Amino acid sequence: MTEIRRVGVLGCGLMGSGIAQVAATAGCDTLVRDVSKQIWERARAGIEKSLGKFVEKGKLAAADRDAALRRLTFTTATADLKGCDIVVEAVTEDLELKNSLWKELDALCAAHTIFASNTSSLTIAAMAAATQRGDRFVGLHFFNPVPLMPLVEVVRTVTTSEETFRRSFAFAKTLGKEPVAAKDSSGFIVNLLLVPYLLDAIRAVERGVGTVPDIDKAMQLGCGYPMGPLTLLDFVGLDTTYKIAEIMFGEYREQRYAPPPLLKRMVIAGMNGRKSGRGFYDYSVDPPRVVDLGV
Ligand code: NAD
Repeated sequence: MTEIRRVGVLGCGLMGSGIAQVAATAGCDTLVRDVSKQIWERARAGIEKSLGKFVEKGKLAAADRDAALRRLTFTTATADLKGCDIVVEAVTEDLELKNSLWKELDALCAAHTIFASNTSSLTIAAMAAATQRGDRFVGLHFFNPVPLMPLVEVVRTVTTSEETFRRSFAFAKTLGKEPVAAKDSSGFIVNLLLVPYLLDAIRAVERGVGTVPDIDKAMQLGCGYPMGPLTLLDFVGLDTTYKIAEIMFGEYREQRYAPPPLLKRMVIAGMNGRKSGRGFYDYSVDPPRVVDLGV
């Protein structure tokens, strides 16, 4: 069984940069591919800032931070990932895009290389079938922010071999994560339960049940959640949530997964949450201010 030492990461947005950070910190040579140098520069700066906070809090030695940063390399060429033992994909939630990258890599990577998707809602089978390595294809679903959230869902699809599942589960542990096994059913465990809750919170805004901060406060203080659903939506990204809801609605045809019109309007307006500076809250000011959505 080949040890996983070289990790490829496709995409360095919110999730890919976090995955790259934990892989490099765990001692893996980590090669990250995104579409432009501007994007990696932002990702690298974010990783440096996050590692710096771990050092400040005494959770990471400064020398280990420096070593982690040295293990990180960025590229715009997918083909550069051909020598990796595992490739974790965290690009935009779009099956066609993901499969075009998998097809390219399938022809280049060694037989032992595991392909792992961080998709939130697509079925792993739909990606595995685009390659000749359905037995070495798995879902590795991390949570945001990756360096802080302990859970990884390890998703076994109908073609995943026992060995691939075991190696992937062990890999999640070497990253310092707590893996759980999940079946290849759209949304896996967490999003199957979480997405309808988040969409219901948007429906509550649409219905005027409460203001945005009061809905957040109610769920924090009434249910003991660490943050309210609308704040969480801004963290996850409204564009990503919209795509996830569309995919899950298409899969299950259940109203609970249907994206509410307000979500669609906000995404059309480019209000994607924290990453774009505005969502339910405006992040250009500190503390963030509630946005008047006119509803
Ligand atoms: P994001 O929009 O922050 O990042 C996506 C990245 O993919 C961008 O940097 C983009 O430039 C890059 N990209 C697009 N086309 C590419 C290509 N051809 N090659 C390489 N990179 C490319 O999105 P995200 O929130 O990081 O989500 C990424 C994946 O992770 C999605 O599948 C999403 O469902 C999943 N996910 C998201 C969350 C979350 O909380 N946001 C949690 C778990 C899983």
